[in-house]
Amino acid sequence: MATTMKALRKMQPARGLQMDTVAVPALGPTDVLVRVKTASICGTDLHIYGWDRWSQGRIKPPVTLGHEFCGTVERRGDEVAAVKPGDFVSAEMHVNCGHCEQCRLGQGHICQNLRIIGIDQDGAFAEFVKIPASNIWKLDPAIPEHYGAILDPLGNAVHTVLAGPIAGQTVLVTGCGPIGLMSIAVAKACGSSRVFATETNEKRRAMARKMGADVVLNPATEDAVARILSETNGAGVDALLEMSGNPMAIQQGFRALRAGGRASLLGIPTENVPLDLVNDVIFKGATVQGIYGRRMYETWVQMAALLKAGKLNLEPLFGERAPLDKFESAFTLLQGGLAGKILLYPNGVPR
Ligand code: NAD
Ligand code: ZN
Repeated sequence: MATTMKALRKMQPARGLQMDTVAVPALGPTDVLVRVKTASICGTDLHIYGWDRWSQGRIKPPVTLGHEFCGTVERRGDEVAAVKPGDFVSAEMHVNCGHCEQCRLGQGHICQNLRIIGIDQDGAFAEFVKIPASNIWKLDPAIPEHYGAILDPLGNAVHTVLAGPIAGQTVLVTGCGPIGLMSIAVAKACGSSRVFATETNEKRRAMARKMGADVVLNPATEDAVARILSETNGAGVDALLEMSGNPMAIQQGFRALRAGGRASLLGIPTENVPLDLVNDVIFKGATVQGIYGRRMYETWVQMAALLKAGKLNLEPLFGERAPLDKFESAFTLLQGGLAGKILLYPNGVPR
C-alpha cells in the first residue's frame, strides 16, 4: 500500500486551502484506516477556508479538513474487532474522552474534552482518514451511498427534530441552509402536521418547498410572525427548530412559539442575542434547549432507521460532484449561497 496520499489542508494561518502530499496516517491498536470514497463540504469548512475570527482562535495549521464522509475500511488496529477491511462506513467525528462527568452520564456529545476530526486533527479531505474504532458507523447497504457523506449534518437535524415531541406537531424551521432543509424533511417524515420555514435567500426558499415545507416565508419582506400566528389560530407553533444563528430569526422564532412549546436551538450566533425572556420564555412556559452535535449514539440509531426505512428523500440537496483537487470551484459555489451539498472525491469521481 502507498505510504503517502493527497490531502486538502489548511497550511498557513490565512485565507485559502492547499492540496498537499502527506504520510498515510499510522494506526494505533484501536484505530481504523478508512479509504475515503465521498466527502462533503460543511459550512464550518467555509469558515475555515475564509479564516474568520472563530477559525483563527480554533484551527492550528497545518491540518487536513473534512468531517463529512463515507468510505471503505482499508486496515484496522490489532484490537479492533467490530469492523473489517472492505466494510462501508461513515463516522461520528466528535471524539469524546470517555472519562469526564458528562461522558460518564451518557452525554458524550457534550464531553468536556471533545476533539473534532477535521478541525482539531487531520480529517477526511484526503485519500485516507484515521478514525477511532468506537466512532465508526457501519452503513446499511439499503442506505443510498452518497447519503453516507452527509450523516454529520443530517444527524444535527435528526437530533434537533427528535429532541422533543414531533408527531402531530406544528413546527417552525428558522433558516434553510443545508441543516434547516434536512430538518424539514425529518420533521415531515416523523409526522409533523405542518412545517413553516423562514429564509431570506430566495434559492433556499425554493429548496425548502422541495424538501416538503408547507409554508415558506421571507422574513425580510413579510411579517412572518403575524402570518404564522394567523395560520395557527393565534397560538403559534408547537416547536421552534432554530437553524440560522441569526438574532432576528431567533427573536421571531420565540415570538411565533406557542405557550408551552419547545425551542430547540442549533444555529450558532456570532454575537449575544437579546431575548424577551419574560414574555417569550417565562410567561410562555417554554422549554428551551441547546442542541450540539449528535447524541452518541442515539441520534445515529434513529437516523439510520429513518434512512433504511426510506423515509427521507434528500436528493434535492445534492449538486455538483468533483475530484478533491477541484475544491476551489466547489468552495466558490458554496460561498455564493447555494444550499446544496457538493460532494468531493479524493479517490476519483465514480462514473
Ligand atoms: P447556513 O449558514 O448554511 O444556514 C443558515 C441559513 O439561515 C442561511 O440560509 C441564511 O440565509 C438563513 N438566515 C439568515 N438570516 C435569516 C433570518 N433572519 N431569517 C431566516 N433565515 C435566515 O448553515 P447550516 O450549515 O445549515 O447550519 C445551520 C446553523 O447551525 C449555523 O448557524 C451553523 O453554525 C449551526 N451549526 C450548529 C451545530 C451544532 O452542533 N449546534 C452543528 C452544525 C452547524
Ligand atoms: Zn468526556
